[in-house]
Amino acid sequence: MADFYRDFSDFLSERFPGQKLQKITINAGFSCPNRDGTKGRGGCSYCNNEAFNPSFCSSEMPVTQQIDEGIRFFGRKYPQMRYLAYFQAYTNTHGEFDRLRAIYEEALAHPLVDGIIIGTRPDCMPDTLLAYLRLLAEKHFVMVEYGAETSHDATLDLINRCHHWGDTVDAVTHTARAGIPIGLHLILGLPGETDDMILQTIARASSLPIDIIKLHQLQIIRGTRLAKDFEENRYPIRQFSVDEYIDLCCRIVDIVPSHIAIERFVSQSPDSLLIAPRWGLKNYQFTSLLHKALARRKS
Ligand code: SF4
Repeated sequence: MADFYRDFSDFLSERFPGQKLQKITINAGFSCPNRDGTKGRGGCSYCNNEAFNPSFCSSEMPVTQQIDEGIRFFGRKYPQMRYLAYFQAYTNTHGEFDRLRAIYEEALAHPLVDGIIIGTRPDCMPDTLLAYLRLLAEKHFVMVEYGAETSHDATLDLINRCHHWGDTVDAVTHTARAGIPIGLHLILGLPGETDDMILQTIARASSLPIDIIKLHQLQIIRGTRLAKDFEENRYPIRQFSVDEYIDLCCRIVDIVPSHIAIERFVSQSPDSLLIAPRWGLKNYQFTSLLHKALARRKS
């Protein structure tokens, strides 16, 4: 347990007492409604899915094989480890119902998998799918992670998300009613957002019936529209120093109520893809600096 806030391990250990669990990222080959024209084209301005796909995860491999590769990667150190299949790449509820069901159930049929986490957009959770997930969740651990990114519609428009905060509120409300745990993904430092706007988003998110908040700094990744806008200096994009970002995270910890776990504060894209910010810190190094800052504030 992190000393100053509930973290993802706390959340998991309440549901799986005494069990060590590892998420395995799966790329099930979905597309995204913001790329294929269903909602928009071109995708969100910051998005390059290569930035968060580990090497063992390729959409060309069946789900079971991706899980086996992940287990080979993580299982050497902890043979007793069990796993959660994390459908992360693109929009993992965007497809024919039968295909979605087959993919989720293939993951759950793996003998070492105890549950699934489904990453998706808040405007992409049809009622029929939610009703099915509700039934699935009676037998297995099922969590949905919604990419909300911010509560400010003007920012969502600027980054071409093609949904608004109202979609997030609706999706979270319906999913919570179905009894399914919810993670909310937010990005800190989106173009045009001040600290006050970010903290307003955290407060709005915290008032929703969610279980997890997952955060990371805006990263400018090669090959994205954001990178082009940044290089052409089309609008200001804030560059946090490590100290400024730590200060912001401390203020976030003050706001997030204790029943919501904070899964993470930073993300680390591959060096070859990352333009900015280049802090040169691994995630665990950042977390250690943050915990020291939180301890100083407390004392
Ligand atoms: S961030 Fe998600 S919703 Fe946006 S383009 Fe990428 S995959 Fe699609």
